[in-house]
Amino acid sequence: MGERLSLISGMSAEDGGMPEVTSFGDMSLSPETLAAVEALGWRAPTPVQRRAIPPGLEGRDIVGIAQTGTGKTGAFLLPVLEGAVPGEGLQALVLCPTRELAQQVLGDAVALSRGRTLRCAAIVGGVGYGPQRAALDTGTELIAATPGRFIDHMRRGQADLARVRYLVLDEADRMLDMGFRPQIESVLRKVPRKRQTMLFSATMPHGVHALSLQVTRDPVRIEVAPSGTTAEGIDERVYSVKPGKKEDLLVRLLSDPDWNHVLVFTRTKRGADMLLTRLQREGISVDVMHSDRQMRHRVRALDRFATGGVRVLVATDIAQRGLDVEGISHVVNYDIPLDPGDYVHRIGRTARAGAAGTAVSFLTAPDLAYLKSIELLLGRTLERIHLPEFDYAGTPVEQRDEGARRRHPRSARGFGSKSADSLSPEELERLLGRNS
Ligand code: AMP
Repeated sequence: MGERLSLISGMSAEDGGMPEVTSFGDMSLSPETLAAVEALGWRAPTPVQRRAIPPGLEGRDIVGIAQTGTGKTGAFLLPVLEGAVPGEGLQALVLCPTRELAQQVLGDAVALSRGRTLRCAAIVGGVGYGPQRAALDTGTELIAATPGRFIDHMRRGQADLARVRYLVLDEADRMLDMGFRPQIESVLRKVPRKRQTMLFSATMPHGVHALSLQVTRDPVRIEVAPSGTTAEGIDERVYSVKPGKKEDLLVRLLSDPDWNHVLVFTRTKRGADMLLTRLQREGISVDVMHSDRQMRHRVRALDRFATGGVRVLVATDIAQRGLDVEGISHVVNYDIPLDPGDYVHRIGRTARAGAAGTAVSFLTAPDLAYLKSIELLLGRTLERIHLPEFDYAGTPVEQRDEGARRRHPRSARGFGSKSADSLSPEELERLLGRNS
């Protein structure tokens, strides 16, 4: 990931001129924290961790452009956990857009504070208030929360923020997209002005920039993997498919046992449920996750998927960000996302922290414009695969492309396009997922 780090232009002077450290051992971390990092198998800091942890440990505010998958959680948690003091009440508040992300931040916080007596909790909607009230009452030192539920507790006078010294806004762009600005404002009115603030966001639209100016003071600014890029090590393919053939194509691809841990994104909840039914009928072990499912079903589905209890998880974009499951072999855009940025986030679920992964997108003729805007954002074209049984007839635009390709077989039109008849029989077999 090292080469993908870039400082926002003109901001290098703002990083405090610190020499870049390349190992956790060089970071003035406590022996307990170093042991916890080692126990997690984190051998070297990721780029965002290298840039954020040293100034974070010095108490500097941080504004980071980094997506999930870059190691940003460790980047903000390590300074916070090093500074928090057991027994001094709530000192660190991490606000997250979704329950799933808050749970994952909590999981990392627990793992990274191993061997210390810090207490950590998540305060999220969809579950009972009692244990959360107890966590607040007993002075839990670190809380990862979704803004809505946290405000509920604040209004009931159950959250004492007077000792908060660390405020983290995680996935700030997502929180603003979800309309959490008023809740963030309410929290800001209650936390002490003298504090360390870290804001992380995958993108930096105007609203997030304005928020960062409001909440931070003289921040160190870092940027990792600018939006529009995707993680290295991801093999990206686009299958041209007729709308009525999508289910069949997925079933065919799933006949390859290498597709062993597969996350499938659909655009709608209904689409997710229909696909679930079809895959179940095929005897494929599958679960579903979307916002119409009760929280406990979602937690169970995620848990079963994470632990390998099911092979396929079908999800709407609810699972897109923050979902942190090890070893996802394939991400499938069963429906091409309408927002090109979502493509980057979705496929970021595979090939995490250096592992290899495959991202497959199903392209129907009506979605061609959406794919083109993804390619525009990426600045490159994605490899197309045309399997005769599934390929859609082609829109006029694609037919023109094909015509150009035939006339100029080596034309530099940029499409890494492969048609079925240009594949070797072995390659075709492999793509078709036959194992004989
Ligand atoms: P995040 O971007 O914080 O969601 O982290 C993405 C994934 O990378 C998580 O599974 C982390 O456990 C993992 N991770 C974070 N930091 C490191 C590291 N230094 N080395 C290896 N894996 C890491």
